Amino acid sequence: MIPPEVQRFESRGGARVYRLPLEEFPGFWGYAHLLLADGLCALVDCGSGLDSSNEGLERGLETVRREHGEQAGWDRLTHVLISHGHIDHFGGLTFVRTRTHAPIGVHELDLRVLTRYEERVRLVTHRLAAFLIEAGVAPEVQARVLELYRVHKALSRSVPVDLTYEAQGMRIGPVHMTHVPGHCPGQVVMQVDDLLLAGDHILSDISPHQAPESLSDNTGLGHYLESLQRLKPLAPGVTWTLGGHQSPVRDLAGRIAAIEDLHRQRLSAVLDILREPRTVAEVSAVLFPDVRGYNVLLALEETGAHVEYLAQRALIRLTNAEVIGGGEPVPLRYVSGEGAAPS
Ligand SMILES: [Zn+2]
Ligand SMILES: [Zn+2]
Repeated sequence: MIPPEVQRFESRGGARVYRLPLEEFPGFWGYAHLLLADGLCALVDCGSGLDSSNEGLERGLETVRREHGEQAGWDRLTHVLISHGHIDHFGGLTFVRTRTHAPIGVHELDLRVLTRYEERVRLVTHRLAAFLIEAGVAPEVQARVLELYRVHKALSRSVPVDLTYEAQGMRIGPVHMTHVPGHCPGQVVMQVDDLLLAGDHILSDISPHQAPESLSDNTGLGHYLESLQRLKPLAPGVTWTLGGHQSPVRDLAGRIAAIEDLHRQRLSAVLDILREPRTVAEVSAVLFPDVRGYNVLLALEETGAHVEYLAQRALIRLTNAEVIGGGEPVPLRYVSGEGAAPS
């Protein structure tokens, strides 16, 4: 694929944001953003750390210098700001550290992912193994999924962080941050004038990935939907929303409504599927029948987040609660309808 071009956005107050396209994994594209305003020269996110992604950073900065006449060298950076603790957004930090000494920032709730990466991967792998059993995933699929997870997570390692956002009053120079947990515990959106850098909280074409909060606290669909609410008051003042993947969003309020709608429909589809007792894996096979490879895990997590949301609110119930006990996780079946919740 031909790399997408660097795009330029200018805010009402004269801040410039450049979207730097990165091939973060083979065939998987995303964006880092370079933000220039009032003495600030911030790189927002830095890709996965794979060679193709690091080359995209170099190429993007060079394009900003050559075609837009900005002072955009590594030596000019004042900050490296991470939107959230997912590898396609922070995995490039080890490389970035070889190019700049600019302070690295992240939200408090994703600090441990960056600074204690190995510990975090071990803990979440442990929880993921239990989740896959409770979800009723076949043992051979469990092994395959866990192996893919390990390979994916082996791509990064711990890096020191210099500042956290709450400690800065959620403000760095002209950048106002809002904490929007859900897609990731420490997800933030960053606003400069009428431009909003949304990380993976808002994407143009798909609803951002959800996972159950049994895997990681401050994720889960309930937190995510609350965080969408938190964004609504900002929407009238936002002209462009720039996510970590896909296209710029022109109508933030409309996009929020569409994402809410999608989750409402998916919740109602899950309730429908659960008229018969089913495990998360069985629900996932109905919702996402054609997934392969790493997407099997993403589909199970997405389904698990919706089932968890309904179970938390007593809209579904367990049909085999009697098998729980003895300290080992066991496959769980849920059912909706009569007896699940007061009508
Ligand atoms: Zn993400
Ligand atoms: Zn992402």
